[in-house]
Amino acid sequence: MTATYDVVNPATEGVVETVTLTSAEETDAAIGRAHSAYASWRAVAPADRARLLRRFAAAVDADIENLAALEVASAGHTISNARWEAGNVRDVLQYYSAAPERLFGRQIPVAGGVDITFKEPLGVVGVIVPWNFPMPIAGWGFAPALAAGNTVVLKPAEVTPLTAIRLGELAREAGIPADVFQVLPGKGSVVGQRFVDNPDVHKVVFTGSTEVGKAIMAGCAAQVKPVTLELGGKSANVVFADADLERAAAGAPYAVFDNAGQDCCARSRILVQRSVFDRFMELLEPAVQGVRVEDPSLDSAEMGPLISAAHREKVASYVPDGAPVAIRGDAPTGAGYWFPPTVLAPVDPADRSATEEIFGPVVVVIPFDDEADAVRIANDSPYGLSGSLWTADVGRALRVARALETGALSVNSNSSVRYSTPFGGFKQSGLGRELGPDALDSFTEVKNVFINTEVT
Ligand code: NAD
Repeated sequence: MTATYDVVNPATEGVVETVTLTSAEETDAAIGRAHSAYASWRAVAPADRARLLRRFAAAVDADIENLAALEVASAGHTISNARWEAGNVRDVLQYYSAAPERLFGRQIPVAGGVDITFKEPLGVVGVIVPWNFPMPIAGWGFAPALAAGNTVVLKPAEVTPLTAIRLGELAREAGIPADVFQVLPGKGSVVGQRFVDNPDVHKVVFTGSTEVGKAIMAGCAAQVKPVTLELGGKSANVVFADADLERAAAGAPYAVFDNAGQDCCARSRILVQRSVFDRFMELLEPAVQGVRVEDPSLDSAEMGPLISAAHREKVASYVPDGAPVAIRGDAPTGAGYWFPPTVLAPVDPADRSATEEIFGPVVVVIPFDDEADAVRIANDSPYGLSGSLWTADVGRALRVARALETGALSVNSNSSVRYSTPFGGFKQSGLGRELGPDALDSFTEVKNVFINTEVT
């Protein structure tokens, strides 16, 4: 019997669509086709591969409203976020469409000949995507992988496969051969596991929980299969007393409650210098109350529901009766997996709400005494993905930025993702870098060739 999955609208709890799940045998067959298609795809002239990627970008651009509507319905994203996410896929494709013609090797001076390096593609790349940002995270994997001459099999999260399926259709419409980019909706333990175990997959790009990421890395070790891992986070938003407190407080809710907190980059620990703690909390309150939590299809919506009832239960477990709720925003009642923006303070840095990734609209506020204390608390985490720091002192900004063990930082800003700059985590937040110029290194292998020029 064919297995299926009912995709549910998290804002209404109604079924959006029923999707057929790919079996292990079908996954292996798809990997086989991707393996066969590799030789001809890597041989496509660089300018032609670039042209195909630009056509793919144009097809995504023309479909933004449709893609965004699918993401609102199946993931509960606000319509403005979903439009940005579809636009991000277009931009990432456009950015990496320049890569096929710029995958430069080097010429290295040596005795007795000429030494040159090539950046060779790897073969079939398996991309495994989580449910929180189905479109961008898929694009961060497949766009540079295809640009570098690899073929791609992509597994969306079981709960959010619709936009990935549509992106697969758009690729074909743009002229990318069907076996070069295949989307395989299905279970992690079935489809994702085949990406790990099947020796014809030569690289796995995984974004998801640290727990599953560790298992994938261990599985890939059996074949010394390279992995890129983008995992969990518990990022700090560090506010010094000399900062523009109004701006820091106005931005802080959006740095954690965006996408209902289901964001690996969520600044879910706000560290505030003790001397301005009370003032900061006064400024934070209206900012939190002002977050518009409503039907995500409305243009005015700033936050939608959580992805599922089970996830809402998990998030709620971090706010038990008696939790130190300092500020609580509004959320709709009735159908949908709603949870109000919630600020916990004061919180002991050892409390599980301050150490574990909640992945929901719950933030803890922790006071610190001085710069060294701020760095110590911020780094006291197994994670290190993103973070912000707010100060008027340029020297301190650079000192603290260098001291924080985290991969994507912003100063006097909460923005850490740009398609043209590298993104990835320190410590248990991941391995390798996506986006920007660095991502191409993850999808190529350096080959060194020495050519003898001696006469005898
Ligand atoms: P998850 O680990 O449960 O699942 C992620 C993907 O892995 C899904 O497609 C799932 O089906 C698949 N999977 C599950 N078991 C597998 C297995 N045994 N073999 C192969 N694949 C398997 O994560 P999630 O709940 O979908 O996503 C939330 C997590 O993702 C959070 O921890 C979040 O921080 C993290 N995340 C990290 C980044 C980043 O860039 N660092 C970005 C987004 C999300």
